[in-house]
Amino acid sequence: MLPLGSLEQHGPQAPLGTDFMVGNTLPQYLKREMDKIDPDFPMLVMPTLPLELSMEHLDFAGSLSLQPETYYHVLKDTITSLNRYGFKKFALLICHGGNRPAVDILARQLRYELGVLIFALNSCAFLDPKVQATISPNNTWYFHGGEMETSMVLAIKPETVHLKEAQTGYKKGGYRQNGHINFSNETALNWMGKDLQTKDHQPLGIGGNPQGATAKKGEIILTQSAKALIPALLEIKNWPLEV
Ligand SMILES: [Zn+2]
Repeated sequence: MLPLGSLEQHGPQAPLGTDFMVGNTLPQYLKREMDKIDPDFPMLVMPTLPLELSMEHLDFAGSLSLQPETYYHVLKDTITSLNRYGFKKFALLICHGGNRPAVDILARQLRYELGVLIFALNSCAFLDPKVQATISPNNTWYFHGGEMETSMVLAIKPETVHLKEAQTGYKKGGYRQNGHINFSNETALNWMGKDLQTKDHQPLGIGGNPQGATAKKGEIILTQSAKALIPALLEIKNWPLEV
């Protein structure tokens, strides 16, 4: 398993390393859940890479990003190196959505070039009913840097969260009408951090109101997300290698 995070702005209240922390922590929750089912589950976990793909947040100080072509080759070189030692199945745990397009291209390319199987796993079970129940009423736009992610960081490293600094993020201009074109949809315009703004139109870079975040909620989100990933990991274990 290679967890993929980011080093990017997550609002005034949550740290740049939010996705990095989730990437390094979620595998521990996975292990806890997997031990109940298959204590000898054959998986090694790589450390989360320090920099990934965060072009959308480069307008905010502290965000660091590789260029897409650099990122593609960092992932390719990592997996190619591991393949030299016999690894043929790779679960890429995507803890930052911006990494996903590069993973999809690479997964197909390396299946073609090396015959390795790269499985892309979304890290967080945002739609799980118990996860949904952690969201404060009417906080409908909570995904990036909002209540869920802030809760997870509160569960992992609470001293890095400053809820007093929190502000609510709203979608900017064109996205606000909620017509066909959205952040991610069948018809989408890829979003930038500055498309999320305060009420008085200042760039904020996060969605929703993080004020309701708590460590207890973060614990629920991490646990449920780990539980949701177990069936896919079991399938990966049993997936036949290609000849
Ligand atoms: Zn994040």
